[in-house]
Amino acid sequence: MKFKPMRAAPQASFFKALGEAKLQQWKLDDRARPAWARIVPAIRAEGGLRLEASSLGEHGRDAGVAAGTDRLSPTCPGHVLCFNTLEQMQKADKAAVLGAAAALVWADIVSGRALDSPGLLARFVVACHADMKQHKFVLWPAFPALVPEDGLAQEGEALPASAGLSAGLGVEPAVVLEEASEAVAALMARSPAGLPLAFVLARRDGKLAAQPLREAADRGAASLRADLATRGLVLVVVDPSPLARHAGWTARNALVMASVCLGLGGEVLPVLCLRPSPRGAVVDPPDHARPDEASAAAAGESSAPTATTALCGSIVVRVRCPGLEGVAAAAVGPPPGEALAGWLAADAAPDAEGTSSLSRLPRGLSAAGWERQPVRAKDGSTTMLSRPRVVDLGRLLDPAKLAESAGRLNLSLMRWRALPGLDQPLLEGMKCLLLGAGTLGCHVSRCLLAWGVRSITFVDNGSVAHSNPVRQPLFEFADAAAGAKSSKKAIVAALALKRVSPVCQPRGVVLTIPMPGHAEDLDASMAAAAELRRLIEESDVVFALTDTRESRWLPTLLCRASNTPLINAALGFDSWLVMRHGLDATRPVSGALAPPASPPLEPTEATRDSPAAERSVLAATSSAAAAGAGAGFSTGPAPTVGCYFCSDVVGPLNTTRGRTMDQQCTVTRPGLAPIAAAHAVELLVNMAHHPARALAPAAVRSADAGAPAPAEAGVGTGPVPHQLRGFMATFSTMQLEAAASTVCTACSANVVGALSARGDAFIRAAIEDPDLLGAGQRPRGDESRGRCAG
Ligand SMILES: [Zn+2]
Repeated sequence: MKFKPMRAAPQASFFKALGEAKLQQWKLDDRARPAWARIVPAIRAEGGLRLEASSLGEHGRDAGVAAGTDRLSPTCPGHVLCFNTLEQMQKADKAAVLGAAAALVWADIVSGRALDSPGLLARFVVACHADMKQHKFVLWPAFPALVPEDGLAQEGEALPASAGLSAGLGVEPAVVLEEASEAVAALMARSPAGLPLAFVLARRDGKLAAQPLREAADRGAASLRADLATRGLVLVVVDPSPLARHAGWTARNALVMASVCLGLGGEVLPVLCLRPSPRGAVVDPPDHARPDEASAAAAGESSAPTATTALCGSIVVRVRCPGLEGVAAAAVGPPPGEALAGWLAADAAPDAEGTSSLSRLPRGLSAAGWERQPVRAKDGSTTMLSRPRVVDLGRLLDPAKLAESAGRLNLSLMRWRALPGLDQPLLEGMKCLLLGAGTLGCHVSRCLLAWGVRSITFVDNGSVAHSNPVRQPLFEFADAAAGAKSSKKAIVAALALKRVSPVCQPRGVVLTIPMPGHAEDLDASMAAAAELRRLIEESDVVFALTDTRESRWLPTLLCRASNTPLINAALGFDSWLVMRHGLDATRPVSGALAPPASPPLEPTEATRDSPAAERSVLAATSSAAAAGAGAGFSTGPAPTVGCYFCSDVVGPLNTTRGRTMDQQCTVTRPGLAPIAAAHAVELLVNMAHHPARALAPAAVRSADAGAPAPAEAGVGTGPVPHQLRGFMATFSTMQLEAAASTVCTACSANVVGALSARGDAFIRAAIEDPDLLGAGQRPRGDESRGRCAG
């Protein structure tokens, strides 16, 4: 007897959910995952196994109460085997996987579970590999069918439902159809989940009535056989096959169930292959035979379901139930949960007692059911062969969405193995303010983008010059040629960043940062200071990337006053400096880099028992975290470490005066800017992943040190040093820590106190007379730290 093979009908949402689950949840864990799907019956077209987004979950918990047309599509449980590589998928023991799945079906039948949940008869397996980089999925579904040794024998031809149900009864076909339709409708009405996959129609008191399998089994084999003898018993199976002459795949396990659970082995059993109409009734005859009916139904005419419109398409086949008495007595495999552990070929090795952990079918039964694909031969003919299908979703996706998911992919993949603790949402939501859209600003923004940061604001007052594009990757020759007015660097950089990634939210602000000693237009400077203060207060982190020392002074002071994290990068000719400014540990840190509000690591029994080194990390962390909470915390120096001006008692004078061209700008080795920019961003990422975030204690490590110090080991993405200084002359990088200076011109208590006491008047005075800040000393010869970025 031939059955129409089953096909899976995966929806686009299923692939999306599969890719997300693999990327974010399962990662490298390739064990079989529980899933569920719906058996969609043939309704004017072929049905099949419908996989959708919600299919990746526990059957029953998610399947829920069916509504609408889903009430005609029973649910069934299955498993998804998502392999890490295509090679693993190819090498997996397909026969073992199918055998194990079929053994589960057999166990459900023998135990009687299938009587209460007929969907268990349509178990499935989806072996797959998801290539999220190419948006390609290789999918190979299997629908395990139990195959008795002697096969299943059909008696006579398949008949339309009316002829098949009335044959030998002496009752009008139309009357029988009406009865069958009403019986099915009555069963659906009392079943919350909708139509069961299989049930029986029995003639009681001269009329057809639907009985769930459990009720039928409870009547006993003798009663059922007696009904069968008077043509008063029909097995009903929801059928995905649209063929007028062939039953679908679901009938196979239902017939084995009828032999074992209903005691009908050896009997010839009529099977109604149910292809219900959306109105909840059964349709007859096959639609190709009644084009008028089919077109009326297709047009959605809501005529009352008569017997003829209700049953068209369904067929009746008569099949001899297999004799499985001897087989049924054989031992079955371990219960489903244990069998799953052994699904992968690697796990299927025999255990100490020599038995495979895979559950096996008893002697006398085999399994069939890997999905087949049409394969075209050279002569143009098509044959169906067992093989996986390849689904390319890339062409279907919106390019912008594609860019977004692809951009996140590398970061998501980091979480598989290299960086499980990567906090993507924190980085994606972080608001970064970049002071300077020159060489450093361009490189810092690109590096932030690569880490998934989306909100990037450039502040710059300059225009793209012809000398810029070769060193500043967000600018091109055309920008410089457009003229100073229409090529403001902050705006052009933001537009360029948006072209690189449509999902990012860059912004350009044309603003001259007020500087001590630059008192040409005081009113404009004061307006700019107010704007700068607003920008800093709405940011989570500020990058100081300007090309002079004095332009860093006001941002340093404003960040210190608002306790906003600031990362500073500066270039010399062949050396670079990246540092984070100290914060006040006794006040709340502004923005997303504040330590988590409630200390996550309270001393508990568990931490008291932990090794000493680990305890010291925890102690440092929880005290720092408590400091972030603010209230009631009084210990700890403020600020923790120094700022850019701390190590330099010289006030921020106008350093651009009296400089020759080679002292002004861009006279630095071209490789320095990308190196320093990358260090600045990596420092931010490490800080974001430290348990104390912006209040992380400074990690210090000399160049010749070996393994990381205990306090650094295992904390987030790595150490969070105070300063990094790089020297191209020796290709070396140093981690340094410098304490905050009590006489610093930008971050000391005196200066911050003066700002809070005098406000704008203090800023105005400092711009007019830089001597107010310094100790009256003139700049020393070494200006390298302050020079050159833009
Ligand atoms: Zn300072």
